[in-house]
Amino acid sequence: MINIAIDGHVGSGKSTLAHCLAKKLGLRVLDTGAIYRSIACEYRKKYGLNIDSENIEKLVKNLNIEISFVNDTQHVSINGNDYFEQIRTEEISILTSKISPFVSIREKVLSVQRAFAQKFDCIIEGRDIGTVVLPYANYKFFVTASEEVRAKRRFDQIKDKQNVSYEQILKDLQIRDYNDTHRKVAPLIPAKDSIILDTSDFTLDQTVDMCVDIITKNKAK
Ligand code: C5P
Repeated sequence: MINIAIDGHVGSGKSTLAHCLAKKLGLRVLDTGAIYRSIACEYRKKYGLNIDSENIEKLVKNLNIEISFVNDTQHVSINGNDYFEQIRTEEISILTSKISPFVSIREKVLSVQRAFAQKFDCIIEGRDIGTVVLPYANYKFFVTASEEVRAKRRFDQIKDKQNVSYEQILKDLQIRDYNDTHRKVAPLIPAKDSIILDTSDFTLDQTVDMCVDIITKNKAK
């Protein structure tokens, strides 16, 4: 069984890296952000945008999370609802970073992630994979880039689909970084044994090659 953990900041390119690497190595990818985002959609549907801990606990009580792949694309079903088309909006990004610190939510997602890692040779990407979810992963990468580079990448990704400015994206990214790194439970920090990849000055191909190199060299030992 091979498990690779990829963690990183908002817009660091960890998801794209995970998919390219998985293609080269013949692994599955679990995008854990999509799970938290789908839960945020279910929360919004039931309770709106205001966070209330009682509502969070009510949600968790009957929370059924299922992962499936349709033509290699991950879908997350929350209590039978697939929010695939809604999970990438800025509103959901912000709401997700507010609901993700709740321990009860993290525990639910933890069991889904671990079950996936036991079932498949895979790459799991998120925020706390190397530190909490898979502390014994075979390889751990922590991906980052400067705030400006990350905001620009995100802006280029969504500018044709959503009416949002670069400045707004940069501001949202700073808020989400703050929330992710300052929460008490499972904050976003590099695992002590992770390999840090600052991709500010690297292309995707260069980053993928670097990771493949590390993995194949280690296998050869
Ligand atoms: O990776 P992505 O931007 O889709 O993640 C959305 C949000 O989900 C993050 O900002 C974070 O609050 C939360 N998240 C998390 N732990 C993970 C993955 C995502 O808390 N493993």
